[in-house]
Amino acid sequence: MRPATAIVHGTHRTDAAASPLTTPIYETTTFVFENAAEVRAYNEGRSDKFLYSRYGNPTVTAVEKTIAVLEGAETAMLLSSGMAATATVLLALLKSGDEIVCSAAIYGGTLHLLADLFPRYGIQARFATLAELAQPEKLLGDRTRVLWFESPINPTLRCVDVAAIAAACRRKGVISIVDNTFASPLNQRPLALGVDIVMHSVTKYLNGHSDVTAGALAGPAALLKDADKARRMLGGVIDPQAAYAIGRGLKTLDVRIARHNANALAVARWLEKDSRVAQVYYPGLESHPDHALARKQMSGFGGMVCVDVGGGLTGAERFFDRLRLFKRAASLGGVESLCSLPVLTSQWGHTDAQLAEAGVTPSMARLSVGLEDPQDLIEDLDQALNA
Ligand code: PLP
Repeated sequence: MRPATAIVHGTHRTDAAASPLTTPIYETTTFVFENAAEVRAYNEGRSDKFLYSRYGNPTVTAVEKTIAVLEGAETAMLLSSGMAATATVLLALLKSGDEIVCSAAIYGGTLHLLADLFPRYGIQARFATLAELAQPEKLLGDRTRVLWFESPINPTLRCVDVAAIAAACRRKGVISIVDNTFASPLNQRPLALGVDIVMHSVTKYLNGHSDVTAGALAGPAALLKDADKARRMLGGVIDPQAAYAIGRGLKTLDVRIARHNANALAVARWLEKDSRVAQVYYPGLESHPDHALARKQMSGFGGMVCVDVGGGLTGAERFFDRLRLFKRAASLGGVESLCSLPVLTSQWGHTDAQLAEAGVTPSMARLSVGLEDPQDLIEDLDQALNA
């Protein structure tokens, strides 16, 4: 026992002097104090030490600081999934009797959380159409505490006016929260547009390699204080190993997003010219209904493209099954190009009326355009369209 203990202590002592270029993975659940005074200083907030990894961990904190910088936020929090981030911040901000207004076109997990689980705790959700979100002031009632929305919206890439919604919320004392997953902070910075809090499924572009599930919140420290407390209690923390992988992914975020943007635009422009295609949805195309708005509030149009190949679900399935380079998989935002069929994934089980309301057709295919050579991607789409 004695030699092993000496080795551990020796490693501990040289660590600070090692000056590593990259943030080490602090794969530890707990942290060592020298004496009671250090513990007291920690408890009283007079120390930058760590106590326990559910409360905070240096590897996680380093990544949180990077995300805060990317979003132009005072502070950021990393959690174990996008849904953990969503549930944690909403449970921290809402109480029984409160109302949350949410865009009807929203990620399915968020929809089910608000529609199925929260009502059991007396938190009521009201879902708003795009037309209603265009007049946000009229949406906010006396009991409304939070307005939650996304832009661009899955899978049609419709956009809503982020600054107008944020301003209406501010006038009415409602907290605005945007899910910025599809855009990434390099294409859209909602806090600069007046939004209070940003949520990310870090699983997507921020990590960017389809190998980590994580979520993040970014915003003012005062607004996220309760979410930080809730994270400790709900326990949706991230493992340091996963945080390390995210930190590494973030180092290439700007070059990745530039390539996602360029590849998606190339693919969208090519698809738009092809007579075999019924419709292409990409906010960077002049034909997209929200192109002008996207130009106003985004600095790049992202890596997501939606294509209607015609022929109903049979047509979409034939196209889908023939793809070679694009992989048939849910999720988005990674290096590899993926394709999913909205009516079999995000809109599964929706009625015709719900599909019409969301602007979704059975012959739509959603593409998460990755970082491959754009010509290879186009050749794959070309051969798949021959179906
Ligand atoms: N928000 C959006 C827009 C998403 O696409 C997803 C997941 O697909 C989530 C939130 C939930 O994130 P996670 O899967 O990391 O919990």
